[in-house]
Amino acid sequence: MPMSDAQPQSYPEIREAVRRLCAGFPGEYWQRLDRDRIYPTEFVRTLTQAGFLSVLIPEELGGSGLGLGAATAVLEEIHRSGCNGGACHAQMYTMGTLLKHGSAAQKAAYLPAIASGNLRLQAFGVTEPTAGTDTTRIRTFAKRVGDDYVVNGQKIWISRAEHSDLMILLCRTTSREDCVKASDGMSVLLVDMREAVGNGLTIRPVRTMLNHATTELFFDDLKVPAANLIGEEGKGFRYILSGMNAERILIASECIGDGRFFIDRATAYAKEREVFGRAIGENQGVQFPIARAYVQIAAAAEMVDKAARLFDAGQDGGTEANMAKMLASEASWYAADMCVQTHGGFGFAEEYDIERKFRETRLYQVAPISTNLILSHVATHALGLPKSF
Ligand SMILES: Cc1cc2nc3c(=O)[nH]c(=O)nc-3n(C[C@H](O)[C@H](O)[C@H](O)COP(=O)(O)OP(=O)(O)OC[C@H]3O[C@@H](n4cnc5c(N)ncnc54)[C@H](O)[C@@H]3O)c2cc1C
Repeated sequence: MPMSDAQPQSYPEIREAVRRLCAGFPGEYWQRLDRDRIYPTEFVRTLTQAGFLSVLIPEELGGSGLGLGAATAVLEEIHRSGCNGGACHAQMYTMGTLLKHGSAAQKAAYLPAIASGNLRLQAFGVTEPTAGTDTTRIRTFAKRVGDDYVVNGQKIWISRAEHSDLMILLCRTTSREDCVKASDGMSVLLVDMREAVGNGLTIRPVRTMLNHATTELFFDDLKVPAANLIGEEGKGFRYILSGMNAERILIASECIGDGRFFIDRATAYAKEREVFGRAIGENQGVQFPIARAYVQIAAAAEMVDKAARLFDAGQDGGTEANMAKMLASEASWYAADMCVQTHGGFGFAEEYDIERKFRETRLYQVAPISTNLILSHVATHALGLPKSF
């Protein structure tokens, strides 16, 4: 059992298989890609071929139908191994929108091809520059013209758009002013990126502090067949929300993996590095932050498991999904900082992978939802406090 596991973990065979696969993608692989901000195509292909990205797709549609608990085990182990699932995790949760709300014809047309790796559904287009977290204020508009929707607008931070064949796009089909509720009047379109790019869709990469293949999208009279509308027009916000709970739980599991990566590395280094004639790990000033990180990750992991269990049981676990994501992202960030400190100067050296993972795990307190918005959800939904916005 690896160093930072107190208890036997769920899905031991899956975890072991993921670890074996990840061993083929060592630190040097990620360092090279990170340097030039290159997408990890080979890693994603290998994961897809091994079937790990289709664990949420039902067996009859070509996946293994194992559920979210198994998906969290996959992503946790990827991150724990020093790899990064950010390049492909969206495939796991975005297809939920299609699976739950798509027509039988859409599911048959796309899901088996996604499961086999012939089609990539990695892009999820929600965020816009002027709306920010206030999603009901999105302005990208899809106007029905004959058998098509004509889309105009702009999105930001849309990750993997250049490495995906399909995108789940949230847009307005009725303006906010004309809706009874602000969350009405939004719809989900499945955009075929292979046809869209250069025909009304322009993608502009945005370089960030981590290698995340994120982009800005510009829609200029992009035609999307009306047959690509998922579910009913005007109900898209609800469809997206149900997928967001899965996303939060999966991201939380990546944070648990990151946290365990940092704890494993810090523990090993603290045992081996000698200063003042003894291992630095003999000093409680070095031990305690590692132990604290271990406690925090263990507690957060329990909440991630609970949230995944509720999700798989079809119960309403929105608050648990949010709490899991908040606890796990804060615990992984604490562990990241602890790991840099434990390594002293070497924590900053590229070849140790710690500075890269430090940058990578910082994202999760902002995306896919920032901590303040989670606290706001808990305050109003769990505690019944008045809404502030
Ligand atoms: C690398 C990266 C990848 C991403 N990938 C995707 C993607 O693939 N698809 C996609 O759709 N989006 C993506 N996002 C967007 C991400 O989901 C948003 O950045 C995130 O939800 C925060 O929104 P924002 O950046 O607009 O912040 P804002 O909404 O502008 O908020 C800024 C800050 O103010 C705080 N704040 C705002 N309102 C309140 C309030 N009422 N009370 C208290 N605090 C408040 C927030 O908590 C936050 O800290 C990505 C972002 C990044 C950085």
